[in-house]
Amino acid sequence: MVSTLGTPPSVKSVSPNQSLQPLTSRVNSQGHLEIGGCDVVELVRQFGSPLYILDEWTLRQACRLYRDTWARCYPGQSQVLYATKAWNCLAICALALQEGLGLDVASGGELYTALQAGARGEELYLHGNAKSAEELAMALEVGCTLVADSLYELQQVAALVTPERPARLLVRVNPGIDVHTHEYIRTGQTDSKFGIGQWQLPEVFDFLAAHPQLHCVGLHAHIGSQIFDLQGHRDLAGVLAQIWRQGLDRGLPLQELNVGGGLGIRYVESDDPPSIPEWVEAVATAVRQSFTAAGLPLPKVLCEPGRSVIGPAAVTAYTLGGQKRIPPSEDLPEGRLYVTIDGGMSDNPRPITYGARYTALLANRPEAEATQRVTVAGKHCESGDVLLKDVLLPNPAPGDVLVVLATGAYNYSMASNYNRFPRPAAVLVNQGEVQLILRRETYADLIRQDILPERLQR
Ligand code: PLP
Repeated sequence: MVSTLGTPPSVKSVSPNQSLQPLTSRVNSQGHLEIGGCDVVELVRQFGSPLYILDEWTLRQACRLYRDTWARCYPGQSQVLYATKAWNCLAICALALQEGLGLDVASGGELYTALQAGARGEELYLHGNAKSAEELAMALEVGCTLVADSLYELQQVAALVTPERPARLLVRVNPGIDVHTHEYIRTGQTDSKFGIGQWQLPEVFDFLAAHPQLHCVGLHAHIGSQIFDLQGHRDLAGVLAQIWRQGLDRGLPLQELNVGGGLGIRYVESDDPPSIPEWVEAVATAVRQSFTAAGLPLPKVLCEPGRSVIGPAAVTAYTLGGQKRIPPSEDLPEGRLYVTIDGGMSDNPRPITYGARYTALLANRPEAEATQRVTVAGKHCESGDVLLKDVLLPNPAPGDVLVVLATGAYNYSMASNYNRFPRPAAVLVNQGEVQLILRRETYADLIRQDILPERLQR
């Protein structure tokens, strides 16, 4: 079912991944930042902080741009899957499904959540380079397509399938394509834990040909994440067309070509990613040209974006606490002003993990001139728990509401309970309405799985 949500007034008409702020952001009559028609300062008053705020319109718009651009510019069939690893919870899975997207899941837990959100087996694709026997059995049980990452996995699946429960699968190939992004989020280069190397494909194709109960319906590849250069995606289409030919020659019933995700988003002003339509047009053209040049019929194309779907749609709001001023010295000629927040690496581990950069503003005075250079420090016991380094804010003070932009992807999904911090709540905002989609964890939640042996009790 594709929803027909009307356009809210005064939304920006850019591709969400090129916008620093959610598309519905504006300054309201109180002079506060408003997202999805909701005053962010008021949301923090009502739900506390840190708080993830997800703008429904921006999320839906990204889904629609992917879906509609494929339909417009690719002559064959297409299907967009939302890569739920970017942010997987019931409401987000349900929203993506409502927009006609399928779901890419990367673990039994993500698969379980997607099913609980109402996904049907045929809408689901299970990834993972080390799937457990339980995860494979669970996927087979519900008719989810497996994206097989190794010969070992295929052997495991062959042992699990029965005539009543055949396997539908794609083979994940390693295309040997290196892209310019952080090494932790590069996945398509030869020296990667992901995908079957081209040297092993003949053996894998022979195995599949000998096991017809493993219905290998296509190929998959994913070259990395936060990618701005389209060339890697173009090269990928050429490599996949060659491998497709080899698979067909061995008699595999190939129909689906999954080209992965990877489109980058704007985190800071200087980021300049291609738009969602530009990405889809480039990939669609490359697939068409590569397959036509190789004399192959056009496959059904799948893609599985995560970051560019959910990343720009959410922000995280924090309340500012105390400050610490380091006076100027020889090593630090301008000194440094640390401002603290009530969250940090447990709700957003990307800065400490990848050195990721973000943009921030104050929700209670978004239009004030940003003249003060500050470093925003999280409250965790790690020196590296710094969310933003050397950013300009308008003279921040304790109690101000700091909003970090573009935190929808790989924030909640990578959040932890480090230092036994309860994970924040998340709200969905749309046209002035707010709905809680993730409850804030409580201290009681934190010890829910703890067991205190009797002999240790006092
Ligand atoms: N597909 C696979 C196999 C991935 O590993 C990832 C994430 O790295 C994605 C899709 C989504 O990538 P992105 O969030 O960059 O679109």
